[in-house]
Amino acid sequence: MTGLAAAADIPALDRLLNAPALAAALDTHGRTQAVAALRRHLDALRQRALAGELPRAELAERAVAAAINGALARAAAPRLRAVYNLTGTVLHTNLGRALLPDEAVASVLRALTTPANLEFDLDSGGRGDRDDLIDDLLCELTGAEAATVVNNNAAAVLLMLNALADRREVVVSRGELVEIGGAFRIPDIMKRAGAKLVEVGTTNRTHAADYENAIGPRTAMLMKVHCSNYAVTGFTKSVSVAEVAALAHARGLPATVDLGSGTLVDLTQFGLPREDTVRETIAAGADLVTFSGDKLLGGPQAGLLVGRADLIRKIKKNPLKRALRVGKLTLAALEPVLQLYRAPEFLAQRLTTLRLLTRPQREIQPQAERLRGVLAQAAGADYEVEAVPMFSQIGSGALPVDQLPSYGLAVRHRGKGRPGRHLDRLETRLRNLPVPVIGRIADDALWLDLRCLEARDEAAFTAQLAESLAEPPAAPSTAQPAEPQA
Ligand SMILES: *Cc1c(COP(=O)(O)O)cnc(C)c1O
Repeated sequence: MTGLAAAADIPALDRLLNAPALAAALDTHGRTQAVAALRRHLDALRQRALAGELPRAELAERAVAAAINGALARAAAPRLRAVYNLTGTVLHTNLGRALLPDEAVASVLRALTTPANLEFDLDSGGRGDRDDLIDDLLCELTGAEAATVVNNNAAAVLLMLNALADRREVVVSRGELVEIGGAFRIPDIMKRAGAKLVEVGTTNRTHAADYENAIGPRTAMLMKVHCSNYAVTGFTKSVSVAEVAALAHARGLPATVDLGSGTLVDLTQFGLPREDTVRETIAAGADLVTFSGDKLLGGPQAGLLVGRADLIRKIKKNPLKRALRVGKLTLAALEPVLQLYRAPEFLAQRLTTLRLLTRPQREIQPQAERLRGVLAQAAGADYEVEAVPMFSQIGSGALPVDQLPSYGLAVRHRGKGRPGRHLDRLETRLRNLPVPVIGRIADDALWLDLRCLEARDEAAFTAQLAESLAEPPAAPSTAQPAEPQA
């Protein structure tokens, strides 16, 4: 029994707090946290002592200190962590969407640490409007008369509907009543905004006459919504922005468009799928266009509204605008991103999102070949790692059918039987690294698309794999056929 401790052997809290071994924990985390952690640890030790399963060695001051330091470090570790996005989806909503260019990062840093003219007019010395910081840029880039910004595009749609269609009707095609994910559904937003949805047409076909017949005395606007994450193909018909705008204007109504991702440049010049730009949408007659800041635009999370000056004025007067307004960090990040669009020649290099989207397959392939070996070694002999071509997706409301030729690593389990459990295990190991590596499992393989691993990150990526995955030889479990299938 000499190896086991009794509850009475557990040292007193006060004594431990004064022990030299605990000094570092107190210094680093402060007394409040150290005492709380120590108390929890001693309680746990007591439970185990009472159960007769506490090795005496765990009562040594050094052992207690190690446990406390570990617990305190875990609790103090950042929750929001950097990860490697190897999912193949560039604008991945769950991984934070667009990555900001250096100019935006510098601007945010400045705004965080120095006072700024957020709502101060430097010309007059009087009060300013935070929208003034970016509305001229947005107007220049979109051809709109006026602009404003809120927290995200969902907020932009909500605000637009409430400001322009409260207790009135909004005509939308059935084919455009989309759910974007994360509980953004056009009919729900409409209801919350106080507007009444009038659905026209069918899921696959809507005609100009459908809009026309739905207009009545209570109609506030005709609205179009970008189908973002799905495609209606086959026997389809939708009415263009220009046609909807013409119908609306003939009855003295505004035509509005929720563009979703919303791009400011013609993406085909970069070899990307075609999307109507905000400028084209405005030019086609839309009176108001809403779009996201952190999708194709490549900026911070934000919702941008551009369009007719009288409508923007009305929107800015709505009390919801105040509730949905952006903070200075958003504006600080957005301005340099919009500035980049003023020099489209450099955009594909300087705008991180576009740089990632346009990385050619021939640049990614050698990278996959370089990394194949280190991953194979890290994964262990039970897995086969191949450098293979694959397709990336733009993500965040660009059509899932538009795919970008890419390259990456496909990992398969060599054993017989269903590989699911083995792939899950490897996926978990990668996800538990200090900088988690996020891939995706499909078709009995773990796929790591290297599109979003830029050259400057490759060395760190390799080093982490080499270090952290140098696991002891595979546990015998991987080789045992008798195990139950997952
Ligand atoms: C993404 C999207 C939204 C929501 O935009 P957030 O910026 O994520 O709030 C709304 N409408 C459409 C059509 C979208 O694609």
